[in-house]
Amino acid sequence: MKQAKRSFLVIGLGRFGESITKTLASLDHEVMVIDKDEAKVNKVADLVTQAVHADATDESVLKELGVSNLDEAIVAIGDDIQASILTTLILKDMGFERIVVKAKNDYHGRVLEKIGADVIIHPEKDMGIRVAHSILSGNIIDFIELSPDYSLVEVAASQTMNGKSLKELNLRAKYGCTVLAIKPKDEEKINISPSANDMVKAGDVLVLVGTNRDLSKLEQELL
Ligand code: ATP
Ligand code: ATP
Ligand code: CA
Repeated sequence: MKQAKRSFLVIGLGRFGESITKTLASLDHEVMVIDKDEAKVNKVADLVTQAVHADATDESVLKELGVSNLDEAIVAIGDDIQASILTTLILKDMGFERIVVKAKNDYHGRVLEKIGADVIIHPEKDMGIRVAHSILSGNIIDFIELSPDYSLVEVAASQTMNGKSLKELNLRAKYGCTVLAIKPKDEEKINISPSANDMVKAGDVLVLVGTNRDLSKLEQELL
């Protein structure tokens, strides 16, 4: 299934912003980038719809560029917290549907929350959590914290689970965890919201939701 084309404004081309830019552009979305460092702008100019060398805290520049025609903005300015906050405020006033902002630390994150950033990313902290989980269990593929207590994990089903139905595995009763989806190992299709009689094979990817405690018990006993 091909996703509808969306348009993005990426401000700041550090490692984080550059990596977002390249990914969005490679998936054929419309991307405008702005950085005050000309060399960084030139580096991605051929990949994106529009690459602009400018200071994003200058409201008149953003207005002239017509950035408010774009759907979503990503503010990936890291070290200059003041510039990150000011840019986010200006974009918020311009009426962006969704603004994603990289936070340098918790204090920065709290300010961003107050001024209406929709998604706040702490790349090092978030990645640290994911990596820790994947180190602890070789079978954890991805991990998303839904709240301080609940998480969503993607795991590869183990040999222990091979050839059993969800009813036999009884994950909800035994571990309080629900399987939201099963992605069979060798097939493209995905079984969303599987029922009790659906079977699991070793290597299938299971998308699980539950409390961190319950998930970690399941990881230790079944994976
Ligand atoms: P990363 O860790 O993602 O590599 P970083 O957190 O170290 O990046 P910075 O290098 O401080 O972040 O900033 C990222 C980019 O944002 C830089 O390329 C910088 O030139 C750009 N930038 C900073 N302030 C502004 C601004 N006011 N307008 C436009 N670009 C800016
Ligand atoms: P429940 O008591 O959880 O509502 P149920 O009595 O409706 O279950 P079934 O839906 O037939 O019975 O499922 C039997 C058992 O199979 C459940 O208790 C649960 O442990 C397991 N199960 C079924 N579907 C899932 C799922 N998607 N994720 C995790 N476990 C499941
Ligand atoms: Ca950095």
